[in-house]
This record gives sequence, structure tokens and C-alpha cells, in this order.
Amino acid sequence: LVVLGIETSCDDTAAAVVRGDGQILSQVVSSQADLLVLYGGVAPKVAEAAHAEAIDQVVEEALSKANLTARDLSAVAVTIGPGLSLCLRVGVRKARNIAGLFCKPIVGVHHMEAHALVARIVQQDLQFPFLALLISGGHNLLILARSLGQYVQLGTTIDDAIGEAYDKTAKWLGLDLRTSGGPAIEKLALEGDAESVKFSTPMKQHKDCNFSYAGLKTQVRLAIESRNINAQIPISSATTQDRSDRADIAASFQRVAVLHLEERCERAIVWAMEMEPSLKYLVVSGGVASNKYVRSRLDQVVKRKSLELVCPPPSLCTDNGVMIAWTGIEHFRMGRFDPPPPADEPEDAMYDLRPRWPLGEEHVKGRSEAR
Ligand code: ATP
Ligand code: FE
Repeated sequence: LVVLGIETSCDDTAAAVVRGDGQILSQVVSSQADLLVLYGGVAPKVAEAAHAEAIDQVVEEALSKANLTARDLSAVAVTIGPGLSLCLRVGVRKARNIAGLFCKPIVGVHHMEAHALVARIVQQDLQFPFLALLISGGHNLLILARSLGQYVQLGTTIDDAIGEAYDKTAKWLGLDLRTSGGPAIEKLALEGDAESVKFSTPMKQHKDCNFSYAGLKTQVRLAIESRNINAQIPISSATTQDRSDRADIAASFQRVAVLHLEERCERAIVWAMEMEPSLKYLVVSGGVASNKYVRSRLDQVVKRKSLELVCPPPSLCTDNGVMIAWTGIEHFRMGRFDPPPPADEPEDAMYDLRPRWPLGEEHVKGRSEAR
């Protein structure tokens, strides 16, 4: 079994070839980091054009690095949501084009399910049920994965995701955004005093598993303003005092942002154990899971609860094609796939795209105990 995975839901064009036993045969990512700096964020039309320009080459490279041609594939997997529909469309068109030409089945993949399931490549004995904390630029989810395709949403964000808060904080602190904001904050925070700025932890009074980062973002913005930090002055040109103020804010922000994750995870573990007493693992994935501080703090939470932490390596935490191929493999094995599309499908065909697509059922307790 060998599957090509294609991912274009947001700002990275990615493809990979993965074998049924979890062996990664190739992995290619083309990032739009330069465009993000230029436009100050993801502009859908610009992102679409960048995907369209990169996709053929990215897929070709994934196949050639794997020493395969499309003929050798068992199936093609592609992200169909959630994400920007203009962007999703580029990947889906490419996937259907290949599948049609070579008569291959196609598997439509949920991007967030893929962030969670990729942990099963990393740790092959990771069985269901498991708890997953999925933290990225657009999502902040606590999911109980009971079996393949059966997910219970214990918590989500009521406003922003943690990755968005990292990205904004980095922008306001004048950090170099050529990599995304998260890694820049993580690095600067090492120089700062995490106790120096008193930010309050979000949603203390809500005894549920939901998240909120909008209020923390505001607290950060006010702290930056009150210290007269000017984002137009890049950190590389800041005075020693200015630099140390910025580092203190980065460290204090990170401490509280992650403390919020810790508190919610502790509660989610209790909720999940009520439903699945045999629970052994917490999976942490999505771009923010590449952060070492996040990993080490959550590792301590998990240890206190006698569970085990599974966190994929950074290249599999941020958006990638491997997770899409692997999720395709998991569903393909269960017979969940679509037949090959017609070889002469028109370019403007209507595709099944799901820009907003919840992962699993909302937990009853989460619903009743939420605000
Ligand atoms: P999604 O649709 O899953 O929300 P996404 O486009 O946000 O996708 P990901 O690659 O999963 O993509 O996550 C990107 C986010 O992860 C960005 O907000 C980025 O700042 C954050 N991130 C990446 N590395 C780190 C890090 N070391 N520390 C903190 N945040 C990080
Ligand atoms: Fe993602």
C-alpha cells in the first residue's frame, strides 16, 4: 500500500508519499513565508496563486524522491477541509487530475484529523482511544479519539487559537517573521523573565475545556503600548533595555498561553477518563506543538495523570503532506474512499470542499457546562 498525500488548506503547499507500514518515502513542503511577511498574513487570492504555482512541482518532487510514478500509487489522499476554499481547491484539483489519469481511488481528508492521526506513524503502538490537543494557527481543539472516524470534541476556542496569539505577539514585538511568529517568540522568551509581566490566565471561572486567546492578545498589546515598544523598530536594532522588555513580554505571554493549555488538558483528561477508563495517551500536534516549552509543560501534566505524551517531530506538527497521506491510508484500509474520478473531468468541476468542517460530535458535558 502506497499513498500520495496533498495538502493546500492554508499557506503551505505540501505533498508526501507514505507506505502502509508508516514508512515515509518522501516529504516536500513549499512555504509561502515571504508572501506572509509581504502581506502581513494569509490573503486568500495570493495564497491560491502561490499554491497554483507550486503544486505541480511539489507533487512531482514527492513522487520522484519516492522513486515512484503515479501509476504505482494505491490511492491519492487530499485535504478537503477545513481551510480556505480557494486554496483547498488547488490541491483537490491536482489530486483528482492524477487520480483520474491513472484510475486511482481518492480519499478526502480532514486536516485536523490528520494532525491527530499522524501521531500513529510516530508511535506505531498508539491505539485508540486517545486524547488529542490540536494547537495551530486556526484551531485549538481537545478531541477524544475513540476509534477511526469517531471523535468527541471536548473543547475548542471561543475566539482565537493559540498560534494566532503567538503570531500577533511576534508581529507587535517587531520580530523577524520570515519563519512564522511562534518560533520567534519561543526563542526570544528564553532571554526573558516569565514572571515579570502579570497577564491573567484566560477563562479561570469557566470550568470547561474550552479556550480563549483574544483577551490575552489584548493584555499583550496593552503591555507593549505601555512600554512604548515600537514594532517598526526591528528587534535586531532595539536598545538593550528595549530588547529586554520585549523578551519579558514574550516569556510572560508564553507562560500564560501555555498555562491555559495545561489547565484545560488536566480537566480534559478527567473527562476523557470517565468515558474511556483505559485511556493511556495524550497526543499533542499542530504547528504550536513544535514548541519545546509547550512540550515540556504538557509532559509534566501528562505524568501527573500517569499518561504518556506523544508529540510528533516539528516537521510533522506543522502542516505537511505526510499526515494527509497517512490519514488517507487509515481510511483506505477501512474501505472509506471515493472511486477514481473521470479522466476528462473539466477544470471547473464542482468539488466536495468543506471549508468549515467540525471534527466529531461536541461533548454533552462540554455543551452544558460551557457558559
Ligand atoms: P490549521 O488549519 O491547522 O489551524 P495552520 O495553517 O495554522 O493550520 P500549522 O502549520 O498547523 O498551520 O500551524 C502554524 C501555527 O503554528 C502558526 O501560528 C505558528 O506560529 C505556530 N508555530 C509553529 N512553530 C511554533 C513554535 N515553535 N512555537 C509556537 N508556535 C509555533
Ligand atoms: Fe494545520
